[in-house]
Amino acid sequence: MPLLIVTDLDGTLLDHHTYDVGPARDALVRTVQAGIPLVLCSSKTRAEIEALQQRLDIHHPFIAENGGAIVAPLGYFDRVPHHAMVDGGRFVLALGQPYPEVVRALRDVAAEERVRVVGFSDMTVGDVAEECGLPVLDAQLAKLREFDEPFRFLDSDPSARSRFLKALHRRGLRAMSGGRFDHVTGNTDKGRAVAELRTLFPDRLGLVVMAGLGDGLNDVSMLREVDLPVIVRSDHNGAAGRMLRKVPTAHVTDACGPAGWAEAVTSLLDGWREPQPSGWARYWPGRA
Ligand SMILES: [Mg+2]
Repeated sequence: MPLLIVTDLDGTLLDHHTYDVGPARDALVRTVQAGIPLVLCSSKTRAEIEALQQRLDIHHPFIAENGGAIVAPLGYFDRVPHHAMVDGGRFVLALGQPYPEVVRALRDVAAEERVRVVGFSDMTVGDVAEECGLPVLDAQLAKLREFDEPFRFLDSDPSARSRFLKALHRRGLRAMSGGRFDHVTGNTDKGRAVAELRTLFPDRLGLVVMAGLGDGLNDVSMLREVDLPVIVRSDHNGAAGRMLRKVPTAHVTDACGPAGWAEAVTSLLDGWREPQPSGWARYWPGRA
């Protein structure tokens, strides 16, 4: 059964601070050369992920903005999904609500709950560059949002925060913690997008075994949808323990960030011989 790898970017394949693949490079090259579909699945925008795919020579479908959309090259699958929009040699299957609606709802709920928040829509390109440690050109791509709004609370009152998050949920929105910001999207998440993507792959590859790698709480829904979940240990958010409680079948890497990614993917590729999946032992000899 073919293997497919779904991966988060910041803090997982990319270093949280430098946004570089660094120690993951060799395992990444090996994955690409083996022809294993590598699906990037991030809170980043379509424009950011397209630029990164070009840089890394990856030509597979990807998931943008926390499950807001699935984007795939035209011709990759036999068919273009029914509701997808064709744009520049790719199709975009939107799963989330349009960005202006999400931002409006975020502002409405903040006003109703008397909570002060600041989102990317309130920030200039320069603000985003500074807050995220990005070059200005990359910050411009990060601002091209279509489905998901990164935001921060300006109040430190934890009860206001939980009241606010509940109010967002009542509006049919999903709020989650990302690496640097909280995020709000329409009624979707990375897990829903992965489940949707799984229905497309049989056209091309037959049934697939999905491995998934992530380092943060916004990756939990994705890790629950894959066959082989991997929690990449983080050197800054300490989320591994909380994530493991939510996805008890996950493997947790020893190393952090891209080094952890390399550790997991190398073990996975080394052990990828069995035709049928039945848990970690088959794929990760000695590490089940
Ligand atoms: Mg991350």
